[in-house]
Amino acid sequence: MPPSRFPHRLVVALATSVLAAAAGAVAMTVAGPPQAANAAACTGYVALTFDDGPNPSTTNALLNALRSAGVRATFFNIGQRVQQNPALARAQQAAGMWIGNHSWTHPHMTQLGTAQMASEISQTQQAIQQATGVTPRLFRPPYGETNATLRSVQAQFGLTEVLWSVDSQDWNGASTAQIVQAASTLQDGGVILMHDGYQTTINAIPQIVANLTSRGLCAGMISPVTGRAVAPDGTDPTTPPTTPPTGNPTTPPTGTGGCTAAYQTLNSWSGGFQGEVTITNTGTSALNGWTVRWTWSGGQTIGSLWNGQLSQSGNAVTVRNAPYNGNLAPGQRTSFGFVATGAATAPSVTCTSP
Ligand SMILES: [Zn+2]
Repeated sequence: MPPSRFPHRLVVALATSVLAAAAGAVAMTVAGPPQAANAAACTGYVALTFDDGPNPSTTNALLNALRSAGVRATFFNIGQRVQQNPALARAQQAAGMWIGNHSWTHPHMTQLGTAQMASEISQTQQAIQQATGVTPRLFRPPYGETNATLRSVQAQFGLTEVLWSVDSQDWNGASTAQIVQAASTLQDGGVILMHDGYQTTINAIPQIVANLTSRGLCAGMISPVTGRAVAPDGTDPTTPPTTPPTGNPTTPPTGTGGCTAAYQTLNSWSGGFQGEVTITNTGTSALNGWTVRWTWSGGQTIGSLWNGQLSQSGNAVTVRNAPYNGNLAPGQRTSFGFVATGAATAPSVTCTSP
């Protein structure tokens, strides 16, 4: 297998398979940088995706280009490479990127038996979990090759299949200008295929983002529900929440609810810092929604927050769960992250539910 060159069959189909995560909510945890784009200016969202990393010769430069452009992207990592370069997978996460599963060895999955398919997926889930603490929700089959057997294996792992709507052709020798041109065809909800492995791709990032911004499109995350690009906080105006009403009014709750919140500073710099709050269901029954509150001591202000819904009033901060990470089984945890201006400080955070 060549080190970084994986030709991809041209597939111009966006997978929108809706695979219910049978295993229940496994919350995504990402840490991230400021989102440069003004949310009010976003008329739609697209997802930038980078396959086949992490790659010691390109991942850090690619992350720097994305950070400089103020955007977050999705990395479909090869499990073996995560095992060999766990620090790079952590760097992806620390830069606010989402991480998906791209198989263990990059095989032609549809030529494998069910057990081998499961092994490719399972080993990669474990490697990414061990490196980053986060279990992926998204799977992109190598070469975009899929079939019903593979989809059923993906479903067993609670994974949503993600293909793409635009192929940058960076794997096929496209120039930076050609990659930029391909990205200019992205539409709301679309997903572009790129790779962590080419300088041409890295060089295209500033122009891709400038072009998207000029068209009112912002870089978003890929919804684990629809496989389409949505806002970085997971809200998807085209997909109303489908969570059914819970609880039976004639049956009193049998357990006790409760949650705790813990804060840590992940990063700080002159004039700002990045924080993360972990919410744990410490009760004996499932949690359906959570709210974390704190009060800043020194006039800090949150500029961007992900995996939660923020409201700020003066020094008072309230963060409610995002649509996809409010349900926690007893003992289960999730987290949200933010970037704030002001002096790094560890606020006293409290959690209530719902
Ligand atoms: Zn690939």
